[in-house]
Amino acid sequence: MSDDFDYAMTIDGQAVTTECHIGVINPANGEVFAQAPDATAADLDHAVLSAAAAFKLWKQRPWAERAALLFQAGEVIIANAESLARLFTREQGRPADGALQEVKATGEWLKTVSAMTLPVEVAQDGPKQRIEVHHEPLGVVAAIVPWNFPLLLAAFKIAPALLAGNTMVLKPSPYTPLCMLKIGALLRGVLPPGVLDIICGGDSLGPMMTAHKGFAKISFTGSTATGKRVMESASKDLKRITLELGGNDAAIVLPDVDLDAVAQKIFFGAFWNSAQICVATKRLYVHTDIYDGLRDRLHAIAKAIKLGDGAEQGTVLGPIQNEAQYRRVLALMEDAKASGLTLLQGAPIPEGRGYFVPVTIVDNPPEDSRVVTEEAFGPILPMLRFDNIDDAIERANNSEYGLAGAVWAKDVSKAVDIAHRLDTGTVWINQNLTLLASAPFGGRKQSGIGVENGQAGLAEFTQTKTIYIPKAKAA
Ligand code: NAD
Repeated sequence: MSDDFDYAMTIDGQAVTTECHIGVINPANGEVFAQAPDATAADLDHAVLSAAAAFKLWKQRPWAERAALLFQAGEVIIANAESLARLFTREQGRPADGALQEVKATGEWLKTVSAMTLPVEVAQDGPKQRIEVHHEPLGVVAAIVPWNFPLLLAAFKIAPALLAGNTMVLKPSPYTPLCMLKIGALLRGVLPPGVLDIICGGDSLGPMMTAHKGFAKISFTGSTATGKRVMESASKDLKRITLELGGNDAAIVLPDVDLDAVAQKIFFGAFWNSAQICVATKRLYVHTDIYDGLRDRLHAIAKAIKLGDGAEQGTVLGPIQNEAQYRRVLALMEDAKASGLTLLQGAPIPEGRGYFVPVTIVDNPPEDSRVVTEEAFGPILPMLRFDNIDDAIERANNSEYGLAGAVWAKDVSKAVDIAHRLDTGTVWINQNLTLLASAPFGGRKQSGIGVENGQAGLAEFTQTKTIYIPKAKAA
């Protein structure tokens, strides 16, 4: 174990250490390189109490003051982006460029959201009365995030929650806690104590948080299976919930596309971050006229890119982030092989103990094969032929998930018609993966409840209060 940083939690503006620790593994070599705190129930109580005390003052501060501090927090993250990005690659596995991109985007997210407002709405303004709708903060929010985008997905929660006047206790994934712990330490001098507590622990900490009476809301991003447990636990005292869960996104490629122009974009829409993206393309429906041409181009890209340790120059795709996920992806691959499916693989995997999986395209598997029906969350992509667009849309919608989707077409109006027919929370046309602070993002069906981002996402961190105000004469 070697590292020069003290990975303490941040509770009430102070560094808090624990007796027990969790080893953090570099997925590129399978070695433990740092120790993260393993919080106890007493640490959680401490965090919730400090956040509750901070809430009393934080909610009273003018919106503009909270916005200014959030903006400053964003600047501090950006100022430390280079060192955070190096740590990011070590704990998450993503190559340097992509790591730096996420760290900077996290700081920018805080700055962008700090400019948002939730003005008082006037429901009625008649001669007798005026009805105003105010948005009040909820209290202490529990934020629980996964390992695939450990910082940006936290920013989706931190920025709107704090801006609206809530305080927060945030728990990163035990697989990727270090950058978030470091950000907690960096912000000790920026945010008032207790406004943003960062705690860290093993498998028991998440359930302890969702059951804790001190939280007004649980904002959760992770798998659908865990989301259901969160909802069940939160139901005991009717905590508010936002659930951003799994997906099995379909992309539909129409025959009029320019294959040379779209192939790279479609490839990275499926495989960037080694396909560990909730909104990555996970089922690729391609019109039969262009199927072979697109398949061959995607396969050529897969063979040409470098797969390896993200810390090495020129690496484009890194390892799977953790061993459990690695085993799941390998099992899916074995199932595809055992079922006699045709697998087209990319560059060979590096030697050693890293969690590497070759980029794999599955050539037109049956619609009911596991690789089509399950969320792989790893670089194994089924390509599926269609010759009738109604059939393609029906197959795309035939999923328990409904997170996002994409349509690739030269004829944009035709693509818009298809977008309206997809049962998902987001549809991209001739692009995918883009998420903006101004645009709501949320899943249909078992991909989630509620939304993040946009005005609607900001409003989810508030409770409306409707006040009926009589006019002077009526009183
Ligand atoms: P996960 O559900 O295993 O874990 C997510 C977080 O929940 C982690 O911090 C984990 O420690 C915590 N947790 C685990 N059990 C818990 C419990 N019983 N109660 C409370 N918290 C608990 O998910 P993961 O493997 O970290 O992430 C991958 C999944 O997340 C994929 O399904 C992916 O599609 C999904 N995801 C969704 C979005 C989105 O915005 N919709 C974004 C990214 C990832």
